[in-house]
Amino acid sequence: MQNTSQIYDIAIIGGGIVGTATALSLQKKRNNRIVILESEDHLAAHQTGNNSGVIHSGLYYKPGSLKARNCTTGREMMYRFCEENGIKHDKCGKLVVATIKNEIASLDELERRGKENGLKEIKRLSKEELKEYEPHVNGIEGLFVGETGIVDYKDVVDAYSRLIKEKSGEIKTISRFLNLKKDKENLILETESGEIRAKFLVNCGGLQSDRIAKLCGVEPGLQIVPFRGEYYRIKKEKEHFVNNLIYPVPDPKFPFLGVHFTRMIKGGVEAGPNAVLAFKREGYKHSDISIPDILGMITYTGFWKMAAKHYKMGFHEFHRSFSKDAFVKALQKLIPEIEYDDIYREGAGVRAQALEPDGKLVDDFRIIEAEKMIHVLNAPSPAATASLSIGLTISELIVKNFA
Ligand SMILES: Cc1cc2nc3c(=O)[nH]c(=O)nc-3n(C[C@H](O)[C@H](O)[C@H](O)COP(=O)(O)OP(=O)(O)OC[C@H]3O[C@@H](n4cnc5c(N)ncnc54)[C@H](O)[C@@H]3O)c2cc1C
Repeated sequence: MQNTSQIYDIAIIGGGIVGTATALSLQKKRNNRIVILESEDHLAAHQTGNNSGVIHSGLYYKPGSLKARNCTTGREMMYRFCEENGIKHDKCGKLVVATIKNEIASLDELERRGKENGLKEIKRLSKEELKEYEPHVNGIEGLFVGETGIVDYKDVVDAYSRLIKEKSGEIKTISRFLNLKKDKENLILETESGEIRAKFLVNCGGLQSDRIAKLCGVEPGLQIVPFRGEYYRIKKEKEHFVNNLIYPVPDPKFPFLGVHFTRMIKGGVEAGPNAVLAFKREGYKHSDISIPDILGMITYTGFWKMAAKHYKMGFHEFHRSFSKDAFVKALQKLIPEIEYDDIYREGAGVRAQALEPDGKLVDDFRIIEAEKMIHVLNAPSPAATASLSIGLTISELIVKNFA
């Protein structure tokens, strides 16, 4: 006979913001016995702990998409959560700045999308009005988006994990998920720290989510490609160049927002991130290389199809990754006064970007269901902003499943 007290209702693989938000939401829905399995020795070790800390408004996303719905709902949930739990944040708003005439059509489209996505604090700005918000900015027209804010998502995950533990949820670090077996009733998750039995599992493995799905016998139909986002910091003496957040008009062909300026909630101003192909899934430095990760990439047809389509952009990003001059030039489009010596290299984050077999970068969040499982296969930006809403969506799917 099996000891049922050792069987969890739900095992969540991945202790990033999506996994922890899912656990929190599940605890609110039902009195579930939950365990989070995290491979590193602390939570938020990867995307969640190395991002820009922006609470996104929902401006960019195709109306009706999972990103648009979960970002706009999740944003408000995030502000409320921060207020209720004493987490430092600032709803400071941001500028999106067009610097050349060719960008005006995309700016129009952003304004239209923003309004369709329910943004109320969105304002079109002339060249002169831009200067009232950000005196050092160079632009011909722009948008002010009042719903945008800043936070440190590590603080958010700390609060999620405190609440999870208060309701008897378990968090097991240094517990990498390795394989799945099944018996008649339960799933048996093999981990670095031993076996776990659960009735249901949720894969929130970020950069490893496609591999985890395969280990669970589920064909993900896509592959994660890591894109490193490298940051610079503005020197203290020049921080006055930036009041809040200054973004360029993004290239509509890519899911990345372009290098921008972000005031950080704990002080300082970041510039970046770029989006350069990484040679290791958790590859934070140029020298980080993983042969299995590279082989996985180059044997995937989708990779070559993407490369054929976007090689020019790829070379440009590589060049900018190694050349500070090129990085500064990109920043000077927004703030012409910024100079080479005004910035210094900081850290980096790696985005888990899902790629379709036909070479398309998956734009929307992707969450799939399988027997006794849910797999979150694409949760790039704005998934930190949207985490509480994504968690709610997943917990509703699970409750339906249990019913
Ligand atoms: C450079 C950058 C800037 C960004 N800026 C923003 C922003 O300003 N605002 C915003 O909303 N979003 C932003 N994002 C996106 C946001 O950070 C991510 O969408 C979000 O953090 C995804 O959370 P996650 O929990 O899915 O992934 P992660 O945070 O990567 O968590 C996945 C976890 O799974 C663990 N794991 C992996 N494999 C296993 C295994 N086999 N067993 C157990 N555990 C495993 C990992 O260690 C990791 O902790 C940014 C992302 C990057 C990279």
